[in-house]
Amino acid sequence: MQNELIVSDKPKDECGVFAIYSPTADVSALTYYGLYSLQHRGQESAGIAVSNGERIQLFKNMGLVSEVFSEEILSRYSGKMAIGHVRYSTTGESSVLNAQPLLFHYLQGQLALVHNGNLTNANHWRSNLQTTGSVFQTTSDTEVFVNLIARYSQNPIEEALMKCMIDLKGAYALIVMTENKLVGVRDPFGIRPLCLGRLGQDGYILASESCALDVVGAKFIRDVEPGEIIVIDENGYKSIKVPSGSKGALCSFEYIYIARPDSIIDGKSVNLVRKRMGSILAKENNNIKADLVCPVPDSGIVAAFGYAQGSGIPLAEGLMKNRYVGRTFIQPSQELRELSVRLKLNPIRPVIEGKDIILVDDSLVRGTTSKKLISLLKNAGAKKVHLVISSPPVLHPCYYGIDIVTREELIAAQNEVEAIRKHIGADSLKYLSLPGLLEALEEDKFCQACFNGRYPVEIPDWIGGIHS
Ligand code: SF4
Repeated sequence: MQNELIVSDKPKDECGVFAIYSPTADVSALTYYGLYSLQHRGQESAGIAVSNGERIQLFKNMGLVSEVFSEEILSRYSGKMAIGHVRYSTTGESSVLNAQPLLFHYLQGQLALVHNGNLTNANHWRSNLQTTGSVFQTTSDTEVFVNLIARYSQNPIEEALMKCMIDLKGAYALIVMTENKLVGVRDPFGIRPLCLGRLGQDGYILASESCALDVVGAKFIRDVEPGEIIVIDENGYKSIKVPSGSKGALCSFEYIYIARPDSIIDGKSVNLVRKRMGSILAKENNNIKADLVCPVPDSGIVAAFGYAQGSGIPLAEGLMKNRYVGRTFIQPSQELRELSVRLKLNPIRPVIEGKDIILVDDSLVRGTTSKKLISLLKNAGAKKVHLVISSPPVLHPCYYGIDIVTREELIAAQNEVEAIRKHIGADSLKYLSLPGLLEALEEDKFCQACFNGRYPVEIPDWIGGIHS
């Protein structure tokens, strides 16, 4: 088990996906760099599958991208296409068996697959497929895709995927690789992001976020649309639209916390939206008087810029983050707990001593980290700490690939704001309102289910009881 002080209480995404088609580039090295830039989306396992046009080879393991792959390992895999995956498990256990890509043989040859998101009717299809003879090796819902593709394997892969899209409900940004074709699919509501880029004269990239395109030197073409299938092969790329009638429901948490600020998702800069969240929050709470606006690094930095702009209160770095605290930090004794918090985040005493501080964070899910941070700041001499959160209270679980799991874990679902304020020891506690969030997003086509309980995709019976 990880040290509870090092484990963040931030929501985590299930994973990041990346794919490249290029007859001339070093596809395994570029996939490595693409995954590196998506590391924030999953830190438990990483994997790359490479096709040379005849055979697909796979390497995956538990750990960060830099821990799983070495130059020597990457040099063993060359080809003209590759797909890669970084994973944080929200369904299925955290084990190498569930790490992706998944690779299997079916009627038409080999097929590798990576998936970001959660299927909401995976259990129904798992038992349905098992009853008719399918065998599962993993506990991941992604394998349901694999078995369903195999069921439709008389058809070309894009047609098999269209049939899967009718059967399977939930959130998916999916990339499938055969020996000579890449296929990217975004669910009909576009809950998880997926974008398309161009690499040089003959290459294409698919990635969860546009920051991965920037890193490998590709040009952004566009986002894959909700309900769209993109097929990439030697003839370039083609699009197949599966009619859904949905106006889209991209996860608003991508803008709040999950995605990197340098990414552009569905035409919106994550940085600019996040900054707007901060400045709208400042305008909604213009009665808070303070000397400084301090971000919780790194999650609150961009919103704190916006808050400082919106309030006119100076921005200051009041907490120093040690970015080298690893995942395998030793379990501290009770006496050493305070030390280990400071090891990760240490207050900058001369900045905060005697000051009234507005501490900005992006979200408050379980509340454990905020309580420790406020106590750290006060012990270091801060006079008052007002905690402001640049998203609305999280009241409902997420079923679409973010680990906001049960209402019991959600501090705002269990307590009034004043009770939370007392519990975490803040002098005041304010959240961005839901209309404020929509104003920052400038549109109402986003999933906000964890804030308002209105789920864009049906919740099956077996979990329906949990959130009601
Ligand atoms: Fe994102 Fe919340 Fe919707 Fe889940 S419920 S997809 S976290 S907005």
